[in-house]
Amino acid sequence: MLQKPNPRYYTDDHEEFRRSVRRFIFKEVEPYANDWDEAGEFPKDLYKKAADAGLLQVGFPEQYGGIECDSFYKVILFEERAWGGSGGVVSGLFSHTIGAPHLAMAGQDSVKSAVLPKILAGEKIAALAVTEPSGGSDVASIKTTAKLKGDHYLINGSKTFITSGMRADYLTVAVKTEGENGPEVSLILIDANSPGITRSPLKKMGWWASDTAEIFFTDCRVPVENLIGKEGEGFRLLMKNFNNERLALAAASCGYAQVCFHDAYQWAKNRVTFGKHLSERQVIRHKLVDMATKIEATRAMIDDLASRLDAGELPFAQIAMLKNFSTQTFQFCADAAVQTLGGMGFMRGTRVERLYREVKVMMIGGGSEEIMKDLIAKRLGF
Ligand SMILES: Cc1cc2nc3c(=O)[nH]c(=O)nc-3n(C[C@H](O)[C@H](O)[C@H](O)COP(=O)(O)OP(=O)(O)OC[C@H]3O[C@@H](n4cnc5c(N)ncnc54)[C@H](O)[C@@H]3O)c2cc1C
Repeated sequence: MLQKPNPRYYTDDHEEFRRSVRRFIFKEVEPYANDWDEAGEFPKDLYKKAADAGLLQVGFPEQYGGIECDSFYKVILFEERAWGGSGGVVSGLFSHTIGAPHLAMAGQDSVKSAVLPKILAGEKIAALAVTEPSGGSDVASIKTTAKLKGDHYLINGSKTFITSGMRADYLTVAVKTEGENGPEVSLILIDANSPGITRSPLKKMGWWASDTAEIFFTDCRVPVENLIGKEGEGFRLLMKNFNNERLALAAASCGYAQVCFHDAYQWAKNRVTFGKHLSERQVIRHKLVDMATKIEATRAMIDDLASRLDAGELPFAQIAMLKNFSTQTFQFCADAAVQTLGGMGFMRGTRVERLYREVKVMMIGGGSEEIMKDLIAKRLGF
């Protein structure tokens, strides 16, 4: 944190929560993040530990074991997670934050009661499966089908790039159902261990500690009660959660940018070249100032938009601007941090080296930069 949180938005309770998240991250994640990333996975008991610390429940209904709260708690959670220095660990650990909200919002009570408490207790893992090999940006063009056959749907198709796809017990899957006016997007909760499902892991540039999978559905039977909302409501439900998801992504990006600033600053204070500390060089000081400026601007946008969401506004364009701005801030800070650390910034095991490799996914997932710009132009009316 470069500057104290703005007291207009953050209460003592928020700050107590911030301290508890940070304690958890520094005790349970940060010391192991590098080893887990190199190993390509993190231990499954981390879900239970995160649930015991009250982190998995944030933002979910109390009725199912969640903790209802304002957007600032979510901002704090996503920002503070960054101190672990591994997007891979936390994107896997918190995949339910994209995999379970639609169920909580519009699922049948019987399904919610059976599934949500286990996910929020860290006993089961949830993932969201929208993207397909033929494309992720154009959600309306997905090809996976759900055909109604009496008391169940028959699912056929495939999904790709799915975070926690290998480990997940439950998948919220975007499918095409047959509507009166032709195929329409629907959401359905699928038990990931059902017959007819096969999964294979994918290797990637960063986020090594999280699993990312391709998932195939062949005549997979799913009970009709697992439909989330009504047939044809899938697109609306996905859009409904996008503002929250993008605010969370922005808070995470801002958090990673702060970690980059922190590590660059510490290095610059200690490293001596040509008889002086790097931090005494104007070029390096200006680099740090540019990082700090972008972080403060991102933080101001986050606070403003979190309060507007809590007030019931739907600032789609501004949230999309924030999503792009925050990921660009992260990209700038990761690049500046690696440059400041010099050769050490390029070494495996250095935190900013890992973060540098993790920037791109933030600019692609949750709505890519280009898609955000199209949305902004449309919302602003040009
Ligand atoms: C590590 C990782 C984890 C992921 N986790 C998940 C997950 O858990 N669940 C899930 O469903 N998906 C997940 N995704 C997928 C992610 O959401 C998609 O990659 C993203 O939506 C983009 O889709 P795509 O890769 O198919 O690219 P495409 O949609 O094919 O787009 C390719 C490029 O073209 C650009 N583009 C597309 N259309 C236009 C246009 N009209 N005008 C201009 N430019 C355009 C895009 O911005 C992008 O740069 C993950 C991806 C990664 C890399």
